[in-house]
Amino acid sequence: MGKESLELRPSPRGWGRRKERQRLEEMKQELELDDHKLDVKELEIKYGTSATKGLSEAEAAARLQRDGPNALRPPRGTPGLVRFGRQLAGGLQCLMWVAAAICLIAYGVQRGQGDRGSSDNLYLAVALIAVVVVTGCFGYYQEFKSTNIIASFRNLVPQQATVVRAGQTLQVNAAELVLGDLVEIKGGDRVPADIRVLAAQGCKVDNSSLTGESEPQTRSPECTHESHLETRNIAFFSTMCLEGTATGLVIGTGERTVIGRIASLASGVGNEKTPIAVEIEHFVDIIAGLAVFFGATFFLVAMLIGYPLLRAAVFFMAIVVAYVPEGLLATVTVCLSLTAKRLARRNCVVKNLEAVETLGSTSVICSDKTGTLTQNRMAVAHLWLDGQVLAADTTEDQSGEAFEQRSASWPLLSQVITLCNRAQFQPGQEGVPVAQRDVIGDASESALLKFAEVTSGPVAAARGRFPKVAELPFNSSNKFQVSVHEAGPQQLLVLKGAPERVLERCRGYLREGEEHPLDPEWRRSLEGACLELGGRGERVLGFCARWLPAGSVAVGTPPEALAEVATGLCFAGLVSLIDPPRATVPQAVRKCRTAGIRVIMVTGDHPVTAKAIAAAVGIISEGSETPEDVAARLHLPLEQVDPRQARARVVTGSELAALAPGALEELLRTHPEMVFARTSPQQKLLIVESCQRLGAIVAVTGDGVNDSPALKKADIGVAMGIAGSDAAKQAADMILLDDNFASIVTGVEQGRLIFDNLKKSIAYTLTKNIPELAPYLVYITASVPLPLGCITILFIELCTDIVSAPGHTWGRL
Ligand code: ADP
Ligand code: MG
Repeated sequence: MGKESLELRPSPRGWGRRKERQRLEEMKQELELDDHKLDVKELEIKYGTSATKGLSEAEAAARLQRDGPNALRPPRGTPGLVRFGRQLAGGLQCLMWVAAAICLIAYGVQRGQGDRGSSDNLYLAVALIAVVVVTGCFGYYQEFKSTNIIASFRNLVPQQATVVRAGQTLQVNAAELVLGDLVEIKGGDRVPADIRVLAAQGCKVDNSSLTGESEPQTRSPECTHESHLETRNIAFFSTMCLEGTATGLVIGTGERTVIGRIASLASGVGNEKTPIAVEIEHFVDIIAGLAVFFGATFFLVAMLIGYPLLRAAVFFMAIVVAYVPEGLLATVTVCLSLTAKRLARRNCVVKNLEAVETLGSTSVICSDKTGTLTQNRMAVAHLWLDGQVLAADTTEDQSGEAFEQRSASWPLLSQVITLCNRAQFQPGQEGVPVAQRDVIGDASESALLKFAEVTSGPVAAARGRFPKVAELPFNSSNKFQVSVHEAGPQQLLVLKGAPERVLERCRGYLREGEEHPLDPEWRRSLEGACLELGGRGERVLGFCARWLPAGSVAVGTPPEALAEVATGLCFAGLVSLIDPPRATVPQAVRKCRTAGIRVIMVTGDHPVTAKAIAAAVGIISEGSETPEDVAARLHLPLEQVDPRQARARVVTGSELAALAPGALEELLRTHPEMVFARTSPQQKLLIVESCQRLGAIVAVTGDGVNDSPALKKADIGVAMGIAGSDAAKQAADMILLDDNFASIVTGVEQGRLIFDNLKKSIAYTLTKNIPELAPYLVYITASVPLPLGCITILFIELCTDIVSAPGHTWGRL
């Protein structure tokens, strides 16, 4: 339940239900959609749009005005009056109402008997009522504040959508989509509206939230079923696109989407209780039981001693009221929500209060490298071409020295760099220097796009000359990307990815513009180049290509088939990207170390790159050696080195896959400093589970759609707000608005603080009962005059529990 708390789930409970039902009836008629049966022409007419250029900006704005934003209404929740009523009618409050009634009756009886002297009972009744009402108001206010805090976070992480308007690709808030918009979706995206698919490349969606089918469902342009719920050519709002890409027209937005209608029928989110709240509730119950027991005992004792019934009843009351720490639960919730708010200001947005609590007990952080520890502001640093490493110009304004583009191999490499790339410039930036332009796409691809634009001229024109036939987008499991383009009488297949993965698919290499079959010497030189560039912390990518006869690959060939075609390629060269570590990370890592939190790097990058960055940020601390370092120092072969001598260790994905069960735990135990490189997202899950088996509370970061299982499995899943896919954000418990590792550490700090404060609050609440209760016992048993009257105690209770106890905690946060 907690994981979905960012989901909007309108509920028709409460008022306005009839109206809602009527609206639903109307919509049901509308629901007899036939959009899936229409062809493209008919759709264009029906929605007044173009299937190639999309709507114009003006038309989109007009429609947005007419139809309202593409968002579900937030849940209505329990009406305020009811919630206020509940605050006044809790168990303890009822007891106090009864007590007040008894006092009033007693006062009436006294008056009736002609005793005009004492108004004690009246005062007591008034005080009791005042306490109940004032605490009720306060409790209501607190609840009001804390419920809205988590709800307000929704706006901090708006969903983005890629839309084509007037022929230009833009990124807009998903809430701004309108009927007839032409949108593009890719793996990892949450489908931003109901979409009629017009073109798809291996697109699969997860419809489980809607239909319960847990298998990924293929989406393609054909109508495959009578029912629009079953047909393949409609993708539904809020479902996840797992892989591939698709383009389609928006046929439903906001409340008028299929999920919008279904969600209106579902009930709202239940009140979520964090484990600590449950624990404390239980604790309060025990104390309350004890209080009633003591109260009853004293009631009996007082009766036996010969007090009148009324006085004995007041004793009972006083003891119960003094003893039960009724403010504690509210204190906990308020503390957690205020911490959540504080965290949001520091770029950690939690999706439920439980996350705040878990953050405080985190003992291991498994962090991504790219974008989290590093800046994700990549730039091309080096090329490897014809067996030589060339330096690229990395200055902002391209004032540095550019490498000479003399080599006969350069044209092909440059063509692969240009074509095998999904990134594109945001429109309308013609005057802006290339380095500063905004790009739609991931950081590596953006860097390559800018590099291509600078070195080989306008990319858009080149892409226009070589239209794309089919593609296999990059994913972290394959670690490569393929696309096929029409190139005159032939087709050109271009592939880029992790060098060793690329090499597996090559038959030859390019030298001076000529293709040569692979030979061991060249392989050694390639490996040397990868190590050299990776050793500087640079991310190395390999590029290759192959000419195919015309018509070899048909439009819309599924990705699996493309992967099969992509063999026998010619290796064109390497490009390496620098991505400097974030300035705040080394300090954050140091802080973790002093706080006893272990930081483990898990990356898809090359082990050498991973190690260089780990050393730069302090995950591998100064002086720590890996078994390889030890071997090099002692001039021994690696097999003769006892790995236990080494503090640090870099484990690759393939080593990980070959490990026996339990061996990973052993590794984690022997080496305090661990780096996992060339891992697949699936292996992240394995690492998280191993850490958990060792008893750790694990926080894990993730950005891709494949990271979801690890994010869900971890005690606290952390998604990236900027680079993260919608799928990762959905699976996570916390979202980092700035993608910065240091923010997680701040979160952990805040989470720990709250535990400290709660412990103090509890200790305080319990100990203050003793001085309140002791005089009573003495008074009743030894008849020593009462130093604190009932009213005084009530007011002390009122002030300490409600005002000062949370205040005491707030002050310290
Ligand atoms: P990370 O944990 O660093 O994000 P990834 O799994 O995303 O790791 O990437 C792993 C490797 O895949 C990189 O080292 C790089 O060689 C390659 N790679 C990364 N992005 C792309 C891309 N867009 N296209 C092709 N290859 C890529
Ligand atoms: Mg990545």
